[in-house]
Amino acid sequence: MNRHNPDFSSILKELGLKETPKRRAILEILAAEPGFLSPEELWRTLKARFATIGLPTVYRNLGELADGGVISTIIHPNRHLYYYFCTRVNGHHHHFICTSCRRVEDIPECSVSAMEGEIIARNGGAITSHIVQLNGLCSDCLAGVTE
Ligand SMILES: [Zn+2]
Ligand SMILES: [Zn+2]
Ligand SMILES: [Zn+2]
Repeated sequence: MNRHNPDFSSILKELGLKETPKRRAILEILAAEPGFLSPEELWRTLKARFATIGLPTVYRNLGELADGGVISTIIHPNRHLYYYFCTRVNGHHHHFICTSCRRVEDIPECSVSAMEGEIIARNGGAITSHIVQLNGLCSDCLAGVTE
């Protein structure tokens, strides 16, 4: 999918979410960013378009979009939640995040699926999902640190 010219209407439709002006604005702001944003940062930008929008509305919409798989949640090592425009339509994959410049890179490999089979064979039960995120410094930031 083209991150820079996404078809928000069809993504929302495919994932079963109603298109509203606020949801559309959130998606436009996130898709224009190379990295992840905090709810407060989104709120500041949204207030230019929706003068009376409250932070709880931003949180609610972000939660709905993330639960629907339209956007991705980034769990920062600082324990705060951030959001990034990457949809479930792109298929199962994981993210590498740069904690310095906030860049996000897609990691297409998933070694957890194979591990799940072994764990179920050993322990029984059922695994319904997993959360994997790699945190660190991107090559540019690392070069800056070691220069
Ligand atoms: Zn970086
Ligand atoms: Zn992604
Ligand atoms: Zn995986």
